[in-house]
Amino acid sequence: MKEKVTIAEIFGEDVFSETVMRSRLPKKVFEELKKTIDEGKELDIMTAEVVAEAMKDWAIEKGATHYTHWFQPLTGITAEKHDAFLSPPDKSGNVLMEFSGKELVKSEPDASSFPSGGIRSTFEARGYTAWDCTSPAFVRHDAAGAILCIPTAFCSYTGESLDMKTPLLRSIEALNREALRLIRLFGNTTSKKVRPSVGAEQEYFLVDRDKFLKRKDLIYTGHTLFGAMPPKGQELEDQYFGAIRERVASFMRDINIELWRLGVTAKTQHNEAAPGQHELAPIYTDCNVAVDHNQLVMEVMKKVAERHELTCLLHEKPFAGVNGSGKHNNWSLVTDDGINLLEPGDTPHDNIQFLLILTCILKAVDCHAELLRESAANVGNDFRLGGNEAPPAIVSVFLGKQLEDVLSQLISTGVATSSIQGGKLNTGVRTLPGFMKDATDRNRTSPFAFTGNKFEFRMPGSSDSIASPNIVLNTIAAEAFADAADYLEQAEDFETAVHDLIKTNATEHSRIVFNGNGYSREWVEEAKRRGLSNLSSMVEAIPYLASEKSAALFSRFGIFTKAELESRVEIKYEDYAKEINIEARTMIDMASKSLIPACLRYCKELADTVSSLTLVNADASAARDILTEVVTLTNRAQNALKELIRDVNRSLMVPVGKERAIYCREKLIKDMAELRAPIDRLEMIVGKDFWPMPSYGDLLFEI
Ligand code: ADP
Ligand code: MG
Repeated sequence: MKEKVTIAEIFGEDVFSETVMRSRLPKKVFEELKKTIDEGKELDIMTAEVVAEAMKDWAIEKGATHYTHWFQPLTGITAEKHDAFLSPPDKSGNVLMEFSGKELVKSEPDASSFPSGGIRSTFEARGYTAWDCTSPAFVRHDAAGAILCIPTAFCSYTGESLDMKTPLLRSIEALNREALRLIRLFGNTTSKKVRPSVGAEQEYFLVDRDKFLKRKDLIYTGHTLFGAMPPKGQELEDQYFGAIRERVASFMRDINIELWRLGVTAKTQHNEAAPGQHELAPIYTDCNVAVDHNQLVMEVMKKVAERHELTCLLHEKPFAGVNGSGKHNNWSLVTDDGINLLEPGDTPHDNIQFLLILTCILKAVDCHAELLRESAANVGNDFRLGGNEAPPAIVSVFLGKQLEDVLSQLISTGVATSSIQGGKLNTGVRTLPGFMKDATDRNRTSPFAFTGNKFEFRMPGSSDSIASPNIVLNTIAAEAFADAADYLEQAEDFETAVHDLIKTNATEHSRIVFNGNGYSREWVEEAKRRGLSNLSSMVEAIPYLASEKSAALFSRFGIFTKAELESRVEIKYEDYAKEINIEARTMIDMASKSLIPACLRYCKELADTVSSLTLVNADASAARDILTEVVTLTNRAQNALKELIRDVNRSLMVPVGKERAIYCREKLIKDMAELRAPIDRLEMIVGKDFWPMPSYGDLLFEI
């Protein structure tokens, strides 16, 4: 790679973008393809043949030897199977570089090993991946060479979706349809599409690779299962936005370059609150592309970290006692001609369309708060949500002073006549430029915050796909818009009807609005009084995915069938139990083979010291003191270990699915905490030379 590159030179160079297509495809073919991309017209195989040929030639020029249908099964990450561009050799043994329209459009991976949640038996292995031409193909360079990656959706032989993309695309279409109905009522006849725009801020930790490899918990589970706090944590708050260390800066430089080449608009980077923690945010883009790009961001981070002898931890809670990582999902609604429907303007009180859309979203979030919470549930996030560092597990909406005031005018009098303005920022320094401040401050503690012209959903976990939260956001908004359009389309007097509807929505759903401190104990109490749910774990949240209310919502808009929902519920329960089991077994392995033996070695050392000192009549009280404490704690650890082993074995007798998940949540999590507590205390007492793995301090501060 050239030493000095400008972003403009490399941006998107590995993407089969619209510009590349325009220059390489015959005009008519390009136009046909554009119709599919923009208007959802079905793609004919003749067009696909020509596109495939052009895509192959372009990819080969970039050095590609293989292609893959890149898809997102229900594992939360992406999957791929590589095929070479290769025809069978002819009589003279020569081969051709081949890639047909059929291969572009459809592929059939053996799907039997992907989670399907009982939708199919394993003998029904057929599954198809189908080209999603609304997300561009790209060439990825890595140790395997260069591979043409074609974003695809993944369905079973009988048409059920087995992935994240199919329902996401369905939800985007539903939202488009219903939002268009609304804006037409307000006289907009020119916009052709309304699409969700998404920007996902990705948090992550970096640790030294050699140290990572010395910890089985990090290797097997992605987070630490033992570990005492170092003398310094994040209390000085000197890490957040602090100067970036050289080694980390050089990692950031490399991910940016890789991402830019892949057309990902990596824009913002900074140190996060915890030591060793950082963030990357791209510029927002079309929801479907943003979801794919976030997968790429995570893949590239992991890959580039290896090159720097670092390991990127995407787990939600790699270290107890310091902040975990999330993924803020910024979401807005934008028309094809660039109007953001969530833009309030300077005087939101007289922006009726905005107020309707806003109150529809309040209704959507209030009616489906549990479903939204569920969309952010994964095992890692259970350690984070509600932990005074991340939003609580209670869903609420932050609107800010200005909008809350407009809303309360609406509720009390039925009309809003004014909007609070920001005023001038006074720094007290004359040489600093004066500027107008925003009408509203931010609130970092809210799970769903209105931030100027978008909503920021802050619950999703750092390792998770953002497909689920966006499927839910798009669908619940579509439902609220559809209800509003149904009502308004029938109204005799539109003006009155719309005012009534805004007032009704605002009044009926005001309980979901909360502008205070979401981390406080008072809020938990207050939320209970308001009747808002507080689902503190994934296991409690899962059932809401297939509840009657959710099933009715999803089937109304053709997003999920009941069978698809139930299969996803099944997968989630199973995943939960499997992951907790892996964590428990990892703890057992570490405690029995390495940590307890280390403590016992230290006991022996202390006992020898006591004997030697006693022999020469010296005071052995210090050694004896430490020995007593180490022995006591080690015995406690050994007992806890035995309990954990017994309960892990029992868990395998509990029926797979909901029951086993609940068992793991109620029993194993507690057992694991019981084992961890004495061992973390021992780590603070046992001599450093005896401790068999890097400490939190080593991992967080020494990279
Ligand atoms: P922060 O929350 O850290 O202060 P920013 O305001 O910089 O963040 O934005 C965070 C993310 O939100 C970025 O990915 C940005 O592109 C995205 N974003 C900004 N405006 C919109 C919008 N209208 N719709 C969706 N995402 C947006
Ligand atoms: Mg943010």
